[in-house]
Amino acid sequence: MIGGVHVVGAGLAGLAAAVSLAAAGRRVTLYEAGPAAGGRCRSYFDRGLGMRIDNGNHLVLSGNRATLSYVSQIGASDSLTGPAKPLFPFVDLADGTRWVVAPNRGRVPWWVLSANRRVPGTRVRDYLALLALRRAGATRTVHDVLGGGALYRRLLEPLAVAALNTPTDVGLARLLDAVVRESLMRGGDACLPRVPRVGLSETFVDPALAWLSARGVTLQTGCRVASLRRDGARVTALETSDGTAALGADDAVVLAVPAWVAAGLLPELQVPDAFSAILNVHFIARADPGGAGFWGVVGGTAEWIFVRPNIVSVTVSAANRLVDLSADEIAARVWPDVRAVLGLPPEMPPVRIVKERRATHVASAAQEARRPAARTPWKNLVLAGDWTATGLPATIEGAIRSGRTAAAILLAS
Ligand SMILES: Cc1cc2nc3c(=O)[nH]c(=O)nc-3n(C[C@H](O)[C@H](O)[C@H](O)COP(=O)(O)OP(=O)(O)OC[C@H]3O[C@@H](n4cnc5c(N)ncnc54)[C@H](O)[C@@H]3O)c2cc1C
Repeated sequence: MIGGVHVVGAGLAGLAAAVSLAAAGRRVTLYEAGPAAGGRCRSYFDRGLGMRIDNGNHLVLSGNRATLSYVSQIGASDSLTGPAKPLFPFVDLADGTRWVVAPNRGRVPWWVLSANRRVPGTRVRDYLALLALRRAGATRTVHDVLGGGALYRRLLEPLAVAALNTPTDVGLARLLDAVVRESLMRGGDACLPRVPRVGLSETFVDPALAWLSARGVTLQTGCRVASLRRDGARVTALETSDGTAALGADDAVVLAVPAWVAAGLLPELQVPDAFSAILNVHFIARADPGGAGFWGVVGGTAEWIFVRPNIVSVTVSAANRLVDLSADEIAARVWPDVRAVLGLPPEMPPVRIVKERRATHVASAAQEARRPAARTPWKNLVLAGDWTATGLPATIEGAIRSGRTAAAILLAS
């Protein structure tokens, strides 16, 4: 039977672990090195823009069961919003073609029979290619399995790059299969796009902290765990920037820090060590949000454009090729795409570029082989984080599942 649990890292994996443990009546202490919780999924006040922004656009799908269940558990379901039907509007900047991918809601995918609902230039049989993901094996890339043709260029490649944050000639087909199996293959009801109504923290972080606080769990921000003191097969203390936290004989640790921090704390551990950037370009501008509130963009630098009140935010994933460019250069590349999609005037409005250099690990076969299981050789230490072996790419769903898995292991021990 475990006693108290020390959760290190208050990103979504740590928060999900803390919520599960507190729900089971465990005593939880939560440590966060940064000034606020949320990690790679957070909102903050940007002084330059004079407004609160998200570090980056985050989209989840109704098929992300752990995510929706976590949001419901912390009482924040109403803070997610999105279209009533599964809608994915796209623009191809090469020729100006616009279309909306609109899967029907049930499991039988009759939508591919309707030319109005599928990608222009595609045939019904092209969609059968998705079944090949099932047989992708351990090392084949998305491009190997699906590459070529209009469906690939106009739908599968944009989806794969967004889901894996990795170019398709490197991205592991098996990870895309895991996403497709839990969304498209379950029908349109599992493909409703959902984004926070206000901000990431207002949906995923602040309600969790309020929920935890009501159960006596406090978050120690600005408290960095610098080392784990170990004695044989157990962790006995955490050395933190605020002093030593000794563990009782029945206490346990959930290590929910990013992979590179885990590697520093546990040098014996093999973890992903190659990372992929995401750029977010936030323009202060007003635009028509259309039916979905976002557009997929093919053939430009911008990949996804999200329209929110007073702000238009662009995401570019797998962005290692762009991340060292200056902010001005990035904005100058992205703004023409935004104008073309949204019909905005030529003058560029105030802009903020957020570069997340280590947004996720690279979703390659080599990195997949480095993802560790939640259980460790230390009896009272479990791992959580989007980089652990969840079977999913590094996403909110993966992070939350990993936190819940870590909690379940401790609760069962
Ligand atoms: C720009 C961007 C866009 C994204 N878009 C999407 C999307 O659309 N959909 C989607 O599903 N996913 C998306 N993701 C991925 C998603 O944000 C991550 O998978 C998820 O937030 C990872 O959560 P985590 O808890 O595993 O890690 P983290 O968020 O990294 O949390 C780890 C926490 O540990 C803390 N910490 C570090 N060191 C220490 C220490 N020594 N002591 C104590 N605390 C420490 C960190 O400060 C951090 O708060 C995106 C990510 C980025 C960056």
